[in-house]
Amino acid sequence: MAYLQGKKVYLDPGHGGTYSEGVARCGSYAVGTSGVLTGPEKDSALDIGFWLREYLESALATVYMSRTSDRAVCLEERTDEANSLGVDIFVSLHHNGNDDSSVKGASCHWYKTEDKALAEAVLNELLDNTEFTPWGTGLKNDNFHVLRESNMPAVLVENGFLTNSGDDEYVYGNGNSFGEDPINYNRRDIAYAIYYGIWKYFNG
Ligand SMILES: [Zn+2]
Repeated sequence: MAYLQGKKVYLDPGHGGTYSEGVARCGSYAVGTSGVLTGPEKDSALDIGFWLREYLESALATVYMSRTSDRAVCLEERTDEANSLGVDIFVSLHHNGNDDSSVKGASCHWYKTEDKALAEAVLNELLDNTEFTPWGTGLKNDNFHVLRESNMPAVLVENGFLTNSGDDEYVYGNGNSFGEDPINYNRRDIAYAIYYGIWKYFNG
């Protein structure tokens, strides 16, 4: 089957909302990490999510998103929505952070057995189509809420460490403005890589 017609994809740009809004709704999850150049993880993850939605929709997939603006959405709300929509896959978009600024690289996280093939497919394309090196092997087994509580194959993608200057510079690309003007080529490349991994997962 060419294209992704009939496939339902749930895109989950991580975090969202202000710190106080997040704490009021669902604990300390709202803001995430941040980079000197890139700024908050929540904004860059959403930008990559928009590009990824474009690629997936142009391949005729049906795309849902946990948020399309900077607002607090709790983890339970994300998995509950994906489960009730009955999507085929769940794709969570993040950037990593570490106290040690030398730690860098991309990784794809899986928890359920059925997550692993999706995580492997996305990681392979991320390493082939972006400047990211892998964090360790790049493939990580983690008991994260969105992986554990989703009823479908799921992957959580950590698109580099914003606390590492090289990864931060790459994610920042040619600027932080959203969308087409100007196009952020590096974030578009990251989205394309994830899209192509999803495509290969479904189409082999
Ligand atoms: Zn995150």
